[in-house]
Amino acid sequence: MNALAATNRNFRLAARLLGLDSKLEKSLLIPFREIKVECTIPKDDGTLVSYVGFRIQHDNARGPMKGGIRYHPEVDPDEVNALAQLMTWKTAVADIPYGGAKGGIGCNPRDLSRSELERLTRVFTQKIHDLIGIHTDVPAPDMGTNAQTMAWILDEYSKFHGHSPAVVTGKPIDLGGSLGREAATGRGVVYATEALLAEYGKSIEGMAFVIQGFGNVGSWAASLIHEKGGKIVAVSDITGAIKNPNGIDIPQLLKHKEATGDLKSFIGGDSMDANEVLVHECDVLIPCALGGVLNRENAADVKAKFIIEAANHPTDPEADEILSKKGVIILPDIYANAGGVTVSYFEWVQNIQGFMWDEEKVNKELKKYMSGAFHNIKNMCQTHDCSLRMGAFTLGVNRVARATTLRGWEA
Ligand code: GLU
Repeated sequence: MNALAATNRNFRLAARLLGLDSKLEKSLLIPFREIKVECTIPKDDGTLVSYVGFRIQHDNARGPMKGGIRYHPEVDPDEVNALAQLMTWKTAVADIPYGGAKGGIGCNPRDLSRSELERLTRVFTQKIHDLIGIHTDVPAPDMGTNAQTMAWILDEYSKFHGHSPAVVTGKPIDLGGSLGREAATGRGVVYATEALLAEYGKSIEGMAFVIQGFGNVGSWAASLIHEKGGKIVAVSDITGAIKNPNGIDIPQLLKHKEATGDLKSFIGGDSMDANEVLVHECDVLIPCALGGVLNRENAADVKAKFIIEAANHPTDPEADEILSKKGVIILPDIYANAGGVTVSYFEWVQNIQGFMWDEEKVNKELKKYMSGAFHNIKNMCQTHDCSLRMGAFTLGVNRVARATTLRGWEA
């Protein structure tokens, strides 16, 4: 099942639990607007290359649409659609005043030079600048993009609309970015993990963790778990994987990756097959990379007791069913990785107020939002006697449904 079919399915299950009217259900499912643009740039050698860029704006009942822009070879309209819809439920679960959107360009950023990436980002911005905006749709980084990408979007957008720092979040601090935004998704994952483990009388200290994916989210989550006394027994990224039953020294691994660009040559662990990390012995598995990595091929072999979905849509519905039958507790993506967009909201608020918060305030507010959302999800689980995924979906969908109904449909 592809990401869109799986996301639609989860939405429909939540709509049934909530008893939503079928016409409202249909209107919530159809995206507000789908944008598809041609992005042609000259490469550094002068030859032309064309890419397709997308921005899917899913819903704006609760506020401006919000979500990342992804540069990845597998970006396709169905996947972006699913991710945009997940943003609508995610912002509602986090209780921040936004709707949902997602964008992407089907390209491999590793094959592009810095100046090619800059040209591509500027051309994409030229094509969509009239359809994004501070109170319309606010992009942010996602896989394959970062603060520099946001700086280029901001610069290009400002040529048309004047200086508008709040049009993107996840910017460099020098351009109005928020302290703590870079770490926010990983930090939110850790707050979410603590909230879940506390329900079972457990804490991070002494537990064994596997981190699949060591980009921005995975490396921050790993560092913070390591700081709190968690034992990281295996880590993987696209270059390979390593394991160490006594726990990997994460600060040393970060230095090693910074210096060499890969994980598997790190002497503080033994190299292992990257596909094996998902079924490696541990207490808590945290997928932090692509969607669909847990599926019917590997779900039955998962050893973890808890799965924290730091990635978007890492568990497909078949795996969800197999894992639930095994008694594995899954903390769903639309809650577990909401820390990034929550601090994006704080960044946007700071830009609009023209006042910068210190990092302590950012992290304290983030913890408050993550704890509040967990409490609300648990209440939904009790009301509907359902999984944490359905608890989160019913919480998010219900908030969007209420806002949509209150706004009405009169033309
Ligand atoms: N790309 C992140 C996500 O999937 C952050 C989005 C944002 O900050 O708007 O949640």
